[in-house]
Amino acid sequence: MSRPAARPGDEREFVKEIPAKSEHFSDWYTAVVLKAELADYYPVRGCIVVRPYGYTIWELMQQGLDRRFKATGHVNAYFPLFIPQSFFEREKEHVEGFAPEVAWVTRGGGEELSEPLAVRPTSETAIGHMYARWIRSYRDLPVLINQWCNVVRWEKATRPFLRTMEFLWQEGHTAHRTAEEAEAEARQMLSVYRDFAETDAAIPVLAGRKPESEKFPGAERSYTIEALMPDGQALQSGTSHNLGQNFARAFDIKFLDSDNVEKHAYTTSWGVSWRLLGGMLMVHGDDRGLVLPPAVAPFQVVVVPILTGPKRDDVLAAAREVTRRLGAVVRVRLDDRVEVTPGWKYNDWEMRGVPLRLELGPRDLAQQQAVLAPRTGGGKQAVPLSGLEQSVPAALASLHRALFDQAKAYLDAHIVAARSVAEIVEAVAGRRGFVRAVWCGASACEQTIRRQSGASPRVITDEAAEGPCAACGGTSREVVYFARAY
Ligand SMILES: [Zn+2]
Repeated sequence: MSRPAARPGDEREFVKEIPAKSEHFSDWYTAVVLKAELADYYPVRGCIVVRPYGYTIWELMQQGLDRRFKATGHVNAYFPLFIPQSFFEREKEHVEGFAPEVAWVTRGGGEELSEPLAVRPTSETAIGHMYARWIRSYRDLPVLINQWCNVVRWEKATRPFLRTMEFLWQEGHTAHRTAEEAEAEARQMLSVYRDFAETDAAIPVLAGRKPESEKFPGAERSYTIEALMPDGQALQSGTSHNLGQNFARAFDIKFLDSDNVEKHAYTTSWGVSWRLLGGMLMVHGDDRGLVLPPAVAPFQVVVVPILTGPKRDDVLAAAREVTRRLGAVVRVRLDDRVEVTPGWKYNDWEMRGVPLRLELGPRDLAQQQAVLAPRTGGGKQAVPLSGLEQSVPAALASLHRALFDQAKAYLDAHIVAARSVAEIVEAVAGRRGFVRAVWCGASACEQTIRRQSGASPRVITDEAAEGPCAACGGTSREVVYFARAY
């Protein structure tokens, strides 16, 4: 993670290189991703290179999710990148839904292949084929497998982490004995995603069901968590699908039940990609750069010694000791570079989103204290050196709360209720965020709203619906949130 030395006095230039988030949101995003060394572009359109600092964030996200998957009984496995064309064509809605995005391999080893191979855009078909071989009896159920892998979906545009042709994700695939179990699994994973988004990524979300038109191709029901970005657009951040018996029928996933009757299994699939990483950057960042939630920050604390004056060796030794002690409780890094000024280091680590800075100078050392400066602002705090193992984690916890509360306040302030199509159109045009409405769920009503407002229905929540359908005036059944979306 070396970077060119900067001359003292160029701190202000440093920050100027990032466009203001509030004014040039899209440019800001690209600039911080590149400048914080999270990712870089690559000559193949749609592909990005994830650099070590960005990949460490992804690894921490993986760990947070994986821990939750294991705690709910899932295990990891790996399935191949290539999927025979014939697999793909077995589930009609699935093939139609994915056809425009699939990359095909038609030549290999200098020869035309007898059957084209899809580069997996998702693995329901490959895994369905294997589950049909593995599942024989009700005793083999449930099967609860997750896979961490890359997938490819042909894209014309590139935005690092948000829209890329190849991306990293996890895809869970489960098979169950009953429809109820599959539905419970799909809902359970939605709550796992919600918990991760809120507890680790500090992002409040709207969680619920996708409308029919937005379902995963081949699913009975799809669930989603939707986050609100600072430009007022929704970001689908994780989805969970109850596939019913659709894939089990297409792939012959059958089992002999305890009543000696052969039955099709019920399956689910669920996924979160590095898109959530992109969402996290957008939600928390500011004009000075990234702000990383402590749970996913590669360095939670950076120790910056003020190496001036006759006591500099004592200060450096004390900073090393502080770093060593803190290493037992948090992810900490000592910045003891001498070629740049403390001010330059402050700007650098702030731009990279490190949640907490610990400053230690000669006067602090004389008083046996250090100064904590949270990335979220709100004033520096002098704390005794003897209690750092307690005060630093406490400061990180309160910083997480501050990030979440700020994002929640933004979300709450950007949900507007609308009672008619005209109100929905006005709300979508006039302000950023979600428009909350009640509807009857009929496709005609959805199309009317979509056409006139330009917004799509993002999520149907469990809230009780009151009043008539915003479009037809008929009996409404559901609360639905509309937004423009990524
Ligand atoms: Zn209606």
